[in-house]
Amino acid sequence: MNSVINEFKFIELPTLLCLGADMLKSVPKVVDRLSLGKKALLLTDDFLRTRIAKDVEDILIDGNIEVFTSIIQNSTMDEVEKQIGVHKEIKPDFVIGLGGGRPIDIAKSVAYKTNQRFISIPTIASHDGVASSRASIMGSDKRHSIQALPPIAVVADTIILDKSPYRFTAAGCGDLLAKGTAIADWMLSHRLKNELISEYSIALSDMTVQLITKKANVIKSQVSGYSRIVVKALISSSLAMCVAGSSRPGSGSEHMFSHALDTIAEKPALHGEQCALGSIMMGYLHDLDWESTKNIMIHLGLPVTAKDLGLKDEEVIKALETAHSIRPERYTILGKDGLTSDAAVKVATVTGVIN
Ligand SMILES: [Zn+2]
Repeated sequence: MNSVINEFKFIELPTLLCLGADMLKSVPKVVDRLSLGKKALLLTDDFLRTRIAKDVEDILIDGNIEVFTSIIQNSTMDEVEKQIGVHKEIKPDFVIGLGGGRPIDIAKSVAYKTNQRFISIPTIASHDGVASSRASIMGSDKRHSIQALPPIAVVADTIILDKSPYRFTAAGCGDLLAKGTAIADWMLSHRLKNELISEYSIALSDMTVQLITKKANVIKSQVSGYSRIVVKALISSSLAMCVAGSSRPGSGSEHMFSHALDTIAEKPALHGEQCALGSIMMGYLHDLDWESTKNIMIHLGLPVTAKDLGLKDEEVIKALETAHSIRPERYTILGKDGLTSDAAVKVATVTGVIN
C-alpha cells in the first residue's frame, strides 16, 4: 500500500548564491541585501591572510563595513571554542568564512553556536561543504560531521577559483562523482531497512554526477570560467544535503572508506580523491558501472590507483576492512560486518586500485 509521509520538517537553504567572475566585489551588496549589519568577523587561514583576505577586508571597508580578521589554525573543536571567544570579544553582526574546507567549517560552527548567519567564500572547489549545513570538525580521535546551518550566502568568485591549483578542483569533481555510490547506498538502505529517502534530494545529488560526467572535457581544458561548472555542482550537492537534513545523499560507503583512510594512512590524500577511489570499489560491490566512473576520473586527471595517490596497498586494504565501523548507524553496501580480508583484496585488485 502506498502511504504519504506527513512528517513535519524544516528545509534550510542558503538565500543568495552568487557565482561568477569578480564576485568578491559584490560582498558589501550581499551584506546589504540580506541586512546582515555593519560589523563582520572574517575567519580565514594564515595562507590567505595577506592575499585574498586582504582584498576582502578592503572591499568591506570600502562598503562601510567594519571587519575583524581572525586566523584559524585547524578545524578542531578547540579551534571552534577559541573563535567563539573571539566572537564574544568582537561582537560582530555576522561571520564570514574564507578559504578551503577548514575556515568554512569553523565559520559554520561559530555562526551556528552564536546564533548568527555566515557568508561562505570558497577559494578552492575541492569539496561540497561550501554551502551545506554540516561542518566537518576534528574530535579527539576522529572527524565528526556536525549539524550547523547552511550559509546565508555563498560568494564564489570564478577568477579566484580558476586560479586555484587544478588538483583541488579535480578533487572536487572526485567528491561529486562519488555521489553515485552514496545514492546507491541510500537506496539499498531504503529497500533493506525501510530508511526514508528524499527523491528531491537524490535528484539534486545525481544531477551533480551527470554534470561532471557531461562537462568533463570542459573541466579538463581549464578554459576561463571552468571552475563555475564544478562549484555549481558542489553547491547543488550541498543543497541536496540541506534538503535531506543530513549528509546521506552525498556520503555513503565511499566516504566511510575515505574517513577510514584518514586515520590509517601515513599520508592521506585529498578528501575528494580518496572518495572517488572508494567510489570505484564500492561501485564494483554495488555492481554499478564502476569502469565508466574510473574512465572519467582518468580523463579528469584524478588518481585511480593507491600508488598514484601516495597510499600503501595495505593501507587501502585496512581501510576497506574497517570502513563499515566508521559510521555504524549508516547502512551501506558494506553491511554491519564489512568486508573480509579476502574480499577487500579482491575488490581492490579487480578494480585495479592495487596490483
Ligand atoms: Zn565529500
